[in-house]
Amino acid sequence: MERPNAWKKYGDADVAELERLCADYRAFISANKTERECVAAGVKLAEAAGYVSLEAAVAEGCALTAGSKVYAVCHNKTLMLVNLGSAPLEQGVNILGAHVDSPRLDLKQNPLYEAGDMAYLDTHYYGGVKAYHWVATPLAIHGVICKKDGTTVEVAVGEDAADPVFCISDLLIHLASDQLKKPASEAVDHENLDVIVAGRPVVIEGDDEPKEPVKQMLLNILSDKYGITEEDFLSAELEVVPAGAAREMGLDRSMILGYGQDDRVCAYTSLAAQLDVPTVERTSVTLLVDKEEIGSVGASGMTSRFFENTMAEILELAGQGGPLALRRCLANSRMLSSDVSAGFDALYADRFEKKNAAIMGHGLCFNKYTGARGKSGSNDADAEYMALVRDIMDEAGVDFQTCELGRIGAGGGGTIAYILAEYGMDVIDSGVAVLSMHSLWEVTNKADVYEAYKGYKAFIERA
Ligand code: MN
Ligand code: MN
Repeated sequence: MERPNAWKKYGDADVAELERLCADYRAFISANKTERECVAAGVKLAEAAGYVSLEAAVAEGCALTAGSKVYAVCHNKTLMLVNLGSAPLEQGVNILGAHVDSPRLDLKQNPLYEAGDMAYLDTHYYGGVKAYHWVATPLAIHGVICKKDGTTVEVAVGEDAADPVFCISDLLIHLASDQLKKPASEAVDHENLDVIVAGRPVVIEGDDEPKEPVKQMLLNILSDKYGITEEDFLSAELEVVPAGAAREMGLDRSMILGYGQDDRVCAYTSLAAQLDVPTVERTSVTLLVDKEEIGSVGASGMTSRFFENTMAEILELAGQGGPLALRRCLANSRMLSSDVSAGFDALYADRFEKKNAAIMGHGLCFNKYTGARGKSGSNDADAEYMALVRDIMDEAGVDFQTCELGRIGAGGGGTIAYILAEYGMDVIDSGVAVLSMHSLWEVTNKADVYEAYKGYKAFIERA
């Protein structure tokens, strides 16, 4: 069974729409490199599309009716959008889900030190990171510093052409004979991923000469520029990410090279689909969640009660509240749990089973199951539900393919799908194929981004 390359069917109008979507997507992932930035940008787009804060609606006791559009934010890191349909909520809702956290280096709570007349910030890696990717490459720092006075300083340095960038050093090859004999997992120690941030000492003559003059210079700059002291790192969330914008890739400009496409390619296309379908029969919900890369844990991860609590608030404001109604709503819902799929890579062909691999440019991926070691840890979608999804995609003219993450035994991975499935709803893993997933610069094909967007819209409209 061969599925076609999606580009073959496009006319000029398709390409124009594809390019518009992909330009917006590139701008989104270039400007938003943390979960917080994605959520803040998502709220802005939602408000522009007529969404209002659920918190405000609850405070004012606003009744929700068909056509009402609300959003809810959890710890500034997870976003949920709800567009009320005309059908009773007990009959279930259509959910698009994706995650907005990406692998990165987080600054430790006590990060700053001086050595060799340079100042460093020590990091702890977040998610699945090959340490050797992160050395000798330009880096940016994004995040927040929360001060004891209740104010928050937002930081994003290294993106503007006029900004400085940062770097982690690598060992000169002429001194690396021992290093190069190590397996790749040990060639660069994760504990050595310390970012160089300064290299010039303050000059104070006499007894006042500081013990660590380069660190002192950095602290002076932090004080002037951000009004913070070294102690303020204790209550900061600062993320080290690759510096620079996402780019078009290939002379034919058919692809996108960018950081954090796992899983912002699914998050952005889900968000765009949610906002672009203003009127629905079945309520549509888009969930952009945090902490997927470390197991969907914590208050802002998918395993928190945020989604369930928010649905309870929605039912109440819609005049359809009650514990049983909520249970029925959740059990009768349908979901596309979207996360990126490992695109077939001819350079590592033996890690794939090609006829069940995600081929770049062949459209939206559906993974009936994920997991490892005999599908362990997987949400295995029902054949009945898969049939419905196929029909929706075919009717809407969406190119799709079915995939597994690598050949049996090559590894495996989890998503948020199994968590929502616990309510008894139909859930299937879907998403966009990515090359070099979890590297600094991941690759997608524009056709897959476009087919994903169209597939999500079709799902909202018909599931
Ligand atoms: Mn992912
Ligand atoms: Mn991932």
